[in-house]
Amino acid sequence: MDHFTYQHGELCAENVPIRRIAEAVGTPFYAYSTATLHRHVQVLREALSPLSPMLCFAVKACPNIAVLRTLAAAGMGADVVSGGELFRARKAGINPENIVFSGVGKTREEIDYALEEGIRQFNVESASELALLNECALKKNVKAPTALRINPDVDAKTHAKISTGKKENKFGISMRSARLLYAETAKMEGISVQGISMHIGSQLTSLAPFEEAYSRVREFVVELRAAGHTIRTLDIGGGLGVPYRDGDVPPLPADYGRMIAGIFSGLDIELICEPGRLIAGNAGILITRVVHLKENEGRHYAVVDAGMNDLMRPALYDSHHDIIPVMAATTALSAFDVVGPVCESSDVFMKDTMLPVLHAGDLLALRTAGAYGASMSGSYNSRPLTPEVLVNSDQFAVIRARQGYEEMLRGETFAPWQSP
Ligand SMILES: *Cc1c(COP(=O)(O)O)cnc(C)c1O
Repeated sequence: MDHFTYQHGELCAENVPIRRIAEAVGTPFYAYSTATLHRHVQVLREALSPLSPMLCFAVKACPNIAVLRTLAAAGMGADVVSGGELFRARKAGINPENIVFSGVGKTREEIDYALEEGIRQFNVESASELALLNECALKKNVKAPTALRINPDVDAKTHAKISTGKKENKFGISMRSARLLYAETAKMEGISVQGISMHIGSQLTSLAPFEEAYSRVREFVVELRAAGHTIRTLDIGGGLGVPYRDGDVPPLPADYGRMIAGIFSGLDIELICEPGRLIAGNAGILITRVVHLKENEGRHYAVVDAGMNDLMRPALYDSHHDIIPVMAATTALSAFDVVGPVCESSDVFMKDTMLPVLHAGDLLALRTAGAYGASMSGSYNSRPLTPEVLVNSDQFAVIRARQGYEEMLRGETFAPWQSP
């Protein structure tokens, strides 16, 4: 459920007409709904209430500091995958105690930074990273709170590009190797083993892969404890899918919660959960304006002012985002290909989507764009970064300003041998 609904014939974010924001901010822009973010946190928290895990928002899904602050106020911590994300989480006021650090490529600088901040846990993904973490911690004379990220070799049955828990994926450590590494940590003075972590993929639309992976990890917890390791925390990752189109029925958080309670109750372990998409996906939309209408060989195109640089998911993952008119349809619907201005054939948001009669200047909304939308955006084709707007009841605020051309070039200079 979200708070983007039609009121008096026009699309609103909570109580603010999208048209009004477009007049103030221009297009394209992302709009997020505070009430929707809050609701998603609440629904997940209730679903998981028997085990009351720490909820760490996967910052990469929607890293704007105002969104992070909203989620922090709702009690969420953060799962970060880079020094930059850690910086954002801290800027947003998230307590280091509530920050976990995942990712296969943590550098020495990033590890040092996270140690200085005193984060909750490093989710370590290789023997090499464990050795580096140990070395960095020893230098600072601290102990790094550590979990090894297990790759449970489970097929998440999601898009290949967002599957992370099969043995051929780059993520995590096989249980066989992890056994040896946990044993080695005994000799590492800079490492304090806390537990286990995992994350098998994103946009999972069935509970079965979670169930399989979690069951394997449960057995592993028991085995490691029997071998004398302290396993106090279990980070179960994120990945629960959201509906992108009518008729999509991803698992309900309540069923996910029941499954987790069934597997982990009685284990006496502190759970950490890292949802990203589930929290932010349906809490954001991308607003764009029709620039040109074009007919070619029987196909009708709506060329819009947002492109694949603003929302990469359709080009990258063939993903679907419902496209709806901002002013409620009053005419019969017909098929349009909604395409962006970027010089790439993959810059297509949707083929044959049914829309009312369109005119240049009309506003359209791409739904479910709150996760991995602005987050993955760039300025390909020298298109300045798109603004982001946060709505709260009847107020809205620009939380990332539209980038100007000068700003876009910031940091670029001529070489000294070129005339200025
Ligand atoms: C991306 C990611 C998540 C969040 O995944 P969602 O599908 O957005 O819930 C959680 N944990 C890790 C380690 C990730 O890389």
